[in-house]
Amino acid sequence: MSGAPSNFVDLHCHSTASDGTLTPTQVIDLAERQTLSAIALTDHDTVAGVAEAAARAAELGIDFLPGIEISASFPDPGTLHLLGYGIDPNSAALQAMASELIGGRDARNPKIVARLQELGIKITMEEVEAAANGGVVGRPHIAGILLKKGYVNTIKQAFNVYLGHGGSAFFDKERLESRDAIARIHASGGLAVLAHPTQLRTQNAAELDRVVKGLVDQGLDGIETIHSDHNDRDVATFEALAKQYGLLRTGGSDYHGGNKPAISLGHAAGRRIPAVYFEALKARLTVS
Ligand code: AMP
Ligand code: ZN
Ligand code: FE
Ligand code: FE
Repeated sequence: MSGAPSNFVDLHCHSTASDGTLTPTQVIDLAERQTLSAIALTDHDTVAGVAEAAARAAELGIDFLPGIEISASFPDPGTLHLLGYGIDPNSAALQAMASELIGGRDARNPKIVARLQELGIKITMEEVEAAANGGVVGRPHIAGILLKKGYVNTIKQAFNVYLGHGGSAFFDKERLESRDAIARIHASGGLAVLAHPTQLRTQNAAELDRVVKGLVDQGLDGIETIHSDHNDRDVATFEALAKQYGLLRTGGSDYHGGNKPAISLGHAAGRRIPAVYFEALKARLTVS
């Protein structure tokens, strides 16, 4: 069984409400087994898992922050994801944003499936919906079907060959401009944090600095310094940027359960996430 809570947290993870494979309750149960003292659930484009996770966290005495992860416009081949922390799941602003973003997915997903069918792959939207089981449909669900049917050997291969940028069945979805996304997170009562800045795929320090400065001017509150994609040098770079621009620091595994089997909750490329990151977020939310 689990021990006393550690001084570690996880502020970035996904459940079956989007493209993770554990239910919100199971994610919190796993957090307890990992002895995490706090967790934020950050599903893509939805807060549908937040109430269940919050209830389970309260039962187990784990601190909990509602979260969301959204994609904003950014030049190819980079991706810009924003985490919203402490958002009010019931606010009109949050509800409106989520339904717009899910509308963008509903427009995209059938295009991907139609292209895969043209490529001779046996897959239907019904199967994709069934894989998502009522949650927000993401490309990992499609990747899982391709894997199960033997069209690819790994989820990664499904992205490289078909679903990712440059893949033969790649389609983009409608995105919010970063300024709009940050404003909507604020309007929902939350703090806006730049997720996994390595995925911006900026070419050098000057370009990264320019992008972060631009986001700070748009109201960015924090930057994810610790993440499963970040090596020691990345962490040092992002910690320095946090200091330079007075940004909150956050960290998370980006846990997706079986959809990203190499990642375990509470762990990020050999690091753990200090509880002070959670406490600083919480303190900022309380004063604002
Ligand atoms: P979507 O939100 O439907 O556009 O899909 C994005 C999800 O796919 C995120 O969880 C990503 O982490 C995941 N993803 C994107 N690229 C890859 C990749 N190359 N390998 C595995 N997962 C990926
Ligand atoms: Zn995901
Ligand atoms: Fe992301
Ligand atoms: Fe994520």
